[in-house]
Amino acid sequence: MNPVDLITTKRDGGEHSADELRFLVRGMVDGSIPDYQLAAWAMAVYFRGMTDAEATQLTLAMAESGDTLDLHDAVPSGVLIVDKHSSGGVGDKTTLAVGPIVAACGLPVGKMSGRGLSFSGGTIDKLESIRGWSSELSEERFRRQLREIGLVVAGQTAELAPADKRLYALRDVTGTVPSLPLIAASIMSKKLAAGADAIVLDVKCGRGAFMENLDDARALARLMVAIGAGAGRKVTALITGMEQPLGNAVGNALEVREAIEALHGRAPADFQELVERVCAEMLLLGDPLCPNLEAANERVRTAITSGGAFEKLVAFVAAQGGDPAQIRHPERLPTAPVQRRLLAEKAGYIHKIDAREVGLAVVEMGGGRKKKGDSIDFGVGVVCAAKVGDRVEAGDTLCVIHAADVASAAVALDRLKAAWRVAEEPTNSLPVVLDRIGTS
Ligand code: URA
Repeated sequence: MNPVDLITTKRDGGEHSADELRFLVRGMVDGSIPDYQLAAWAMAVYFRGMTDAEATQLTLAMAESGDTLDLHDAVPSGVLIVDKHSSGGVGDKTTLAVGPIVAACGLPVGKMSGRGLSFSGGTIDKLESIRGWSSELSEERFRRQLREIGLVVAGQTAELAPADKRLYALRDVTGTVPSLPLIAASIMSKKLAAGADAIVLDVKCGRGAFMENLDDARALARLMVAIGAGAGRKVTALITGMEQPLGNAVGNALEVREAIEALHGRAPADFQELVERVCAEMLLLGDPLCPNLEAANERVRTAITSGGAFEKLVAFVAAQGGDPAQIRHPERLPTAPVQRRLLAEKAGYIHKIDAREVGLAVVEMGGGRKKKGDSIDFGVGVVCAAKVGDRVEAGDTLCVIHAADVASAAVALDRLKAAWRVAEEPTNSLPVVLDRIGTS
């Protein structure tokens, strides 16, 4: 097979066979296809797209391009491995609350998570704001913790779906990241390689997300559900709003605090709703005792009100070397020395909070990386005091900026002024779940 033929096939709108896709993926891993040919092929895919069958075959080949995990020996016999994935957003600390709740319901959660990317935060960075917590676990320790505690979160290993690693890096620098089949194959190949039998996808949509409009988010969700079905997995996709930050807190330690609040059932309404819905969807896929959403919701509520979910977080943090006292006393998590308030200049209703700008302001203050390897200031961030639809009076606080110093607080304050829009006419609050696409 010749890479040039595959590039021209796709350039001219043709369809690849499974063998051709396996050839391409082999070439990504062993280096036999050079960057310029892979990049040309990715651009052809960007313009011509792929059929569902092609996207599924590409995903399967990428999932099998490195190590694959089978965790069934670490969970009770017959229990499904259920995973969740968020396409990334601002203030998205959902995994931090969902993991302990679902594990407390008796469904084991063994997850590989990522770090922040651009304006969107990452689960591993957030958890690292807990003193001593580590994402680096041997496979043996991962399995033992899954067996003993039912909850483990580790960083993605280099051996998992290495074809994605190479292709993603190339897409990143060739303008081919926003290709639906390539995004879907990238996300799903890692989930399949990590051994999930069932997956709940949280596809974010809006200014603070990768997919800015609902049609694109639906198309991506549909494709990932189809790929999952083609690979014999159960998949449910929720399309959720990301116009404004999720919850109130954006910034690593601030988000850990808010996730702890969700385990007590008292997080901001939008975040609490999303957490409980994702948990219920996971139980629906993986727990035979939850035949419908009502039964699953009931189980989730019990895990929260009983304190079981909170205790699960404490046990999980301790098992991965973290300081459980910071979970029991969240005021001991890292804080920032300077706080500044953004005030409403006039009375009215909040119409817009630009999630992307909030995310970027937090990165600028040191809460995320501007380049690979940058260290993170865990204490900095932004806490919204009111959300879209809320009424504010002139002089009310719109958000509190938590900064390392006066200068960076001033820069953030300036930037965030334009991120909020207050207008006289009332407006509705924003819905959390916009759509649901599933195999069941
Ligand atoms: N997340 C991924 O893992 N891959 C993509 O291509 C986009 C988002």
